[in-house]
This record gives sequence, C-alpha cells and structure tokens, in this order.
Amino acid sequence: MDNRHYLVDKYHPLPEDYVPYDLDIAPIPFTCTIDSPKHLMCRTVFDSLSKMHSDSLKAGLSIYGISGYRSYYRQQEIYLESVIKKGLAHTLKYIAAPGTSEHQTGLALDVSCPRVDYELVEEFALTPEGIWLKENAPKYGFIISYPENSYEKTGYAYEPWHLFFPCKNSGYYVY
Ligand SMILES: [Zn+2]
Repeated sequence: MDNRHYLVDKYHPLPEDYVPYDLDIAPIPFTCTIDSPKHLMCRTVFDSLSKMHSDSLKAGLSIYGISGYRSYYRQQEIYLESVIKKGLAHTLKYIAAPGTSEHQTGLALDVSCPRVDYELVEEFALTPEGIWLKENAPKYGFIISYPENSYEKTGYAYEPWHLFFPCKNSGYYVY
C-alpha cells in the first residue's frame, strides 16, 4: 500500500516513526560518504533526479547532493543543536522542527557546488548551478520549496539549495 506522505510543513507534521518505504542510494554524486543516510532518497524520484543531473553536466555544471533523507531523530538533534548554538529566533527561521522537515519524506534534497565550497548558503543562488536549477528544476518535477521573499508564506528564509519533489496528484501543488 502506498502510504507515502507528500505534504509536510509547520502545520502538517509527520509521525515520529514515519520512514518512506523505498529509500535507496540516490543516483547522483554526493559529498558525504556512501554509508551516510544523507545519500538516501525515495526511488520514486530517481529517474527525474538522474535526468536533471545528467542534463546539468551537459550544461557544464557541477551539482552535488549534500543531504537527502533525514530521520525524525536526526532532525531533532539538528534542531536542538541549533537552538543551543544559534538561539531560538535563528532556529525558527532556518531549521524545521522535528517531524516538519521535508527531508523526512525522502523527497527533498539539498544541493550545492564547488564554487561555494559545497556550502548551503544564499550565494548558491548566484552561481551558474543555482541559476540553472532555479530555471530548470521545475521541468523535472522539482520545486524550490523556500523561494526568495516568501518568508510570510513558507515560514522559512530563502533556501535556493533545497529541492522537493511533490507528488503531482496530491492536490497541494499546481503545475
Ligand atoms: Zn533542505
């Protein structure tokens, strides 16, 4: 049975024990080691992801996966670490609370490139890789979940590196 969760945001949290059923190693280069769970995504995105990546290579670009699937418990660690190190205001703006991260669906992926030292920073948007993704990711079914100037709507700061593959039949996204 397909019990996949497609919609997650601050108001639609996922259950603590939700783990997608078809996680596997994503078919693009990542910066993390092969045994890291960051490498995992749902197999349902693999065709689109690999097509998008090979087209980006043909365009002379270097896009790398940084972080795909993230469990509820890993998100909890990241959230708490951020509260301690950077404070609550910063954390609320940048870090999803446990259960509310798109990464837990296995359908989200953070990407970066050598030009910004593989960091997840706003400057990524100004690199050829960031510019190409903004223009082309939707052609492969990916959206940039947290666009520029959409804090009021999404509740998050601009994240040009964060891609999400929503289900076209979920009714929540219009193409
Ligand atoms: Zn992300």
